[in-house]
Amino acid sequence: MKTVLEVKNISKSFGNQPVVKNLSLSLDKGTIGCLLGPSGCGKTTILRVIAGFEGIDAGEIRINQSIVSGRHILVPPEQRRIGMVFQDYALFPHLSVKDNVAFGLRNINGKKKEKRIDELLHLVRLVDAAQKFPHEISGGQQQRVALARALAPEPDLLLLDEPFSSLDVTLREQLSTEVREILKEQATTALMVTHNQHEAFAVSDEIGVIQDGKLVQWGTGHNLYHRPASNWVADFVGDGVLLPGLVLDDRRVETGLGILEGQFKYPCQNGCPADVLIRPEDIIHDDASSFKAKILKKHFRGANIIYTLQLPSKDVVLALVPSTCQHDVGHSIGIIPKVDDIILFEK
Ligand code: ATP
Repeated sequence: MKTVLEVKNISKSFGNQPVVKNLSLSLDKGTIGCLLGPSGCGKTTILRVIAGFEGIDAGEIRINQSIVSGRHILVPPEQRRIGMVFQDYALFPHLSVKDNVAFGLRNINGKKKEKRIDELLHLVRLVDAAQKFPHEISGGQQQRVALARALAPEPDLLLLDEPFSSLDVTLREQLSTEVREILKEQATTALMVTHNQHEAFAVSDEIGVIQDGKLVQWGTGHNLYHRPASNWVADFVGDGVLLPGLVLDDRRVETGLGILEGQFKYPCQNGCPADVLIRPEDIIHDDASSFKAKILKKHFRGANIIYTLQLPSKDVVLALVPSTCQHDVGHSIGIIPKVDDIILFEK
């Protein structure tokens, strides 16, 4: 598989504040990657150095094997064959949808141009809105115009910076699925930046988790959720708690949920303390169970409720329960722990 983007050991500081720290990643052709991390962790800076808006202090960035950033090298953004989509669409208000898309095609003319515009309008499902102006279409449609404009010159790499954050929640979910379909249809290699894990899961093939300027894990959404590389990733991705436990041997760990059994890796002698990752779906609600836990909080989510439960040990866990099972805060409910995959972290 051809590698389109290769970022090798890059670092970037602003003044004496290191913002990107020895970061490496690569993207194969047609892959959609995403950088996910909390506000201020350096995601946008990483995207900006890949785009060429900022230089780097150390390391190297290659796009299609050519060095675009490195020691004494800074190829300007317009020579990198990249496309960009920003949070605020940045459409030209006085140009129609069609002319906004055409703006991305300044280097071709005539029939070829008309054909490509037509293709792009079909791709983003805006044929009927071609003559409208940006203020006459919805936020989601505006972002699809921005996407079509960025894809028009067939960039080698598309960079998307928080592309859904100006939209309301429903539109965000819908548009993230649509954007994935559009990018896949064009086999576009793309890197998106977001602090929203649901968007990262919906759009990308691979996700890099950024903590304080460092890449702490790179993998599929499934891997991040089920095999988090650290307790920080476990806490940041998905819901759950880290329950204190005591490792009894290489198959058993004692916790406030009782003795949990399974296979796990733990680099210590038997008898050491550890935190065990418990996801809300690991706690099954069963009225017949004699193991009771007290409801401290309930969070209604439509089809499900997430209950915050206090165990007899006083530890707290979350439980994902169908919303047909309604119980009040302060009441106790029967639970059965079903932790199929035991993930432990050193204390
Ligand atoms: P957010 O999600 O809030 O946009 P982020 O993860 O994208 O955050 P960055 O925007 O990359 O983070 O910022 C990382 C750090 O670098 C912040 O502390 C920010 O203040 C600092 N920073 C970013 N750009 C500059 C700049 N041009 N000059 C000085 N400091 C900067």
